[in-house]
Amino acid sequence: MVTAHTWHPGTGRVVSRWPVPVALAPDELFSMWLVRAALAQGVDPLVLAGHLWPKWRVWTIDLDRGINDERMNTLARESGIDAATLRAASLLPIAVVTGLEPEAASGIWHWILALGSRNRKRRGGLQYCSLCLANDVRPYFRLHWRLAWHTCCAVHKVSLRDRCCHCQLPIEPNRLTAAAVMTSCANCKGDIRHCLALSAADAALAFQKCADQVALTGAGSYGAHRVQAKEWFHLARYFLMLLRCAVRHQDSGLGRCLAVVDPSVSRLRPPVTGLGFEMLPTLERSGFLESVGALIGAGPEQLRSAVIAESMNDTSLRQRWRSLPPHIDSLVHEIPQLVRSRKTKGNSTPAPMSRQTVLYKWARLQRKMRRAS
Ligand SMILES: [Zn+2]
Ligand SMILES: [Zn+2]
Repeated sequence: MVTAHTWHPGTGRVVSRWPVPVALAPDELFSMWLVRAALAQGVDPLVLAGHLWPKWRVWTIDLDRGINDERMNTLARESGIDAATLRAASLLPIAVVTGLEPEAASGIWHWILALGSRNRKRRGGLQYCSLCLANDVRPYFRLHWRLAWHTCCAVHKVSLRDRCCHCQLPIEPNRLTAAAVMTSCANCKGDIRHCLALSAADAALAFQKCADQVALTGAGSYGAHRVQAKEWFHLARYFLMLLRCAVRHQDSGLGRCLAVVDPSVSRLRPPVTGLGFEMLPTLERSGFLESVGALIGAGPEQLRSAVIAESMNDTSLRQRWRSLPPHIDSLVHEIPQLVRSRKTKGNSTPAPMSRQTVLYKWARLQRKMRRAS
């Protein structure tokens, strides 16, 4: 049976060394499939991982960034699913399309939600749609619920959640115990399928769909200009940075300039925490992404007009970024010339008169008025 998928098709039935073979569902997230496989065998995820890879503290790291060949081959042998199929369920291929250079990658990966792991505990990083989980015959977590540009469920048109609605703690299926079901909260044992789903913001959903297309096709557009996926995501990241600068200084020229292009910028508020984008709650990311979508849709010409209208300088646009997206870099280099042409135009208006000239002209006017009367 072919099932709709976006990122990977998953597998059909599998033959496995495990007592209960567990197929990979379409778009299922690698680490969450491993949790589901453990629960299906009736063991804790910790026990299954210890059996596969003794002495490796799997659940303290972000398993979805990919694992080495040796460990992957062990898992492929045991599970009956080949290594390439399992790799396609990790976040690495998408992270590379969005600009990640694996050799240089350390710390937080751009566009991938950060787990904020401390031992096996997590501070966030995994979102869900309670309606998708409720509709699943065997509930499973989707790969795209870990992408930072995802804030909505495109199927149900609702906002994703990033916390358990019963206890407000992050979702941590990696800490579930053998008796639990996949949709249990590891903390309060509540079922997250019962969490109320709120309507998605149209603009956030539109941006999400657009970014998905860019990641899937390898190209997108800035206004009417075609750009490669890496440049598109770089541009989106640049606007995120610029928007966060603008909301920190609400009445700044930068804020006014961006609001000329997208009026909703003036309604944005700074995140409650100063954390990086990949650590922000879903709702806060959603607001910023809506504006990023509008700024990208407007294209470089509208930004250029706003820069001229608000007399922006190159420092405000650069914000000490060493590597600007090419369209922005051209605009920043153009600014000194724009300033000069403003000054030249300014010379055509009369310069302020000296006090003596004003007195002289006033005296002449009075003389004229006396003669006329
Ligand atoms: Zn859904
Ligand atoms: Zn809970």
